Amino acid sequence: MSALPAGRRAARDLLDTLGTDRRTEWRTCFSTDGSEAPTGLAPVCPDEDHEEDDGSVYACCAEPVIECGSSPVAAYLAALLNADRGAL
Ligand SMILES: [Zn+2]
Repeated sequence: MSALPAGRRAARDLLDTLGTDRRTEWRTCFSTDGSEAPTGLAPVCPDEDHEEDDGSVYACCAEPVIECGSSPVAAYLAALLNADRGAL
């Protein structure tokens, strides 16, 4: 098995244990590290009062929030996870 399918499966297994659904849509978010760029990943918030372009995490937001340490990496991982939605 190549690295990509193995990594995809391992990430999916972890996200399953964190309670996400395989159809979860992901976004970048501001996590708790205090950075000025969105360096975290979180599920897109379904609350209609949470504006789509608001990258903050509030009580309305679903877990998990995963800190990636880098805004470009967080954006890339969100895109990868969204590309795999429902396919894993
Ligand atoms: Zn929210």
